[in-house]
Amino acid sequence: MLQQTRMEAVLPYYRRFMEELPTVADLAACDSDRLHKLWQGLGYYSRVRNLQKAAKTVMDVYGGEIPHARAELLQLPGIGDYTASAIASIVFHEPVPAVDGNVLRVFSRLTEYEGDVLKQSSRAEIRNALLEVIPHDRAGDFNQAMMELGATVCLPAGAPLCSACPLQNLCKANASGKAQVFPVKGKKKERKKQNLAVFILKMGDRYAIHKRENSGLLASLWEFPNSLAGLGSKQAEQALKKMGANFVGFRQIGRSRHLFTHIEWEMRWYEAELDEIVADFVFVTKEELKQIYSVPSAFSFGVRYILLP
Ligand code: SF4
Repeated sequence: MLQQTRMEAVLPYYRRFMEELPTVADLAACDSDRLHKLWQGLGYYSRVRNLQKAAKTVMDVYGGEIPHARAELLQLPGIGDYTASAIASIVFHEPVPAVDGNVLRVFSRLTEYEGDVLKQSSRAEIRNALLEVIPHDRAGDFNQAMMELGATVCLPAGAPLCSACPLQNLCKANASGKAQVFPVKGKKKERKKQNLAVFILKMGDRYAIHKRENSGLLASLWEFPNSLAGLGSKQAEQALKKMGANFVGFRQIGRSRHLFTHIEWEMRWYEAELDEIVADFVFVTKEELKQIYSVPSAFSFGVRYILLP
């Protein structure tokens, strides 16, 4: 839950999630719509799907007990090097470094590390260097101290708080005054831009939604019908006809933008009243949209438009 998300924002979701699904067995058996609904608002839905796959594996392969070793944790879906190392060191005391963005930054500044920290090879190099110094009796404390130092003292944005840092006498970047040169980061790939026409289609007191494919972006989540046909209203109207919709009162109601890691959606929103059901869509009431169906935040403009009076 904490990936790309602040602790304060996560806490209410975490509490609700743990109340509803207190055990690994509950998580493994949870219905997919209910699971997505519990996650709604946190984004990056592949995380919760992987969490459930991991829970199923823990039930089927490990008899319901989470494995202790980093190497075994790495075999669970959705658990990468950082998470496996954090669990293994903090919960089960295995002496392995957990390298997140905070740790990369602290290490880079401490040693004036010149490699590009966005590269896997640099991360592996830093991990190996930490493996040599991590204390075997307090690996979890070491990892948490590094993370906390990065989050609260050796800050990512703005100047680090070197005068309050317990490592200031060891730190090369502090000595040279070059803290803000590190960590070195190469150029990120630009996001691919896509233009989407999105439709709020009303039939009586119900609205059309559609389940996305079960792989790829926002897999298996509910969306408002949409098309990559382009942004103009003529193109949008044609795209809607192609979906087999007969409609009246077609009009543009707004625009929005959503950034994914690798894709950027420029969205134009249209509204229309349907004459008849379209087979591909599910028609839901406002209450059902609120309580049952999980629509990702990329489509929050539409949810707000429908639910707000
Ligand atoms: S002395 Fe400054 S740059 Fe060095 S680790 Fe501490 S906060 Fe970061």
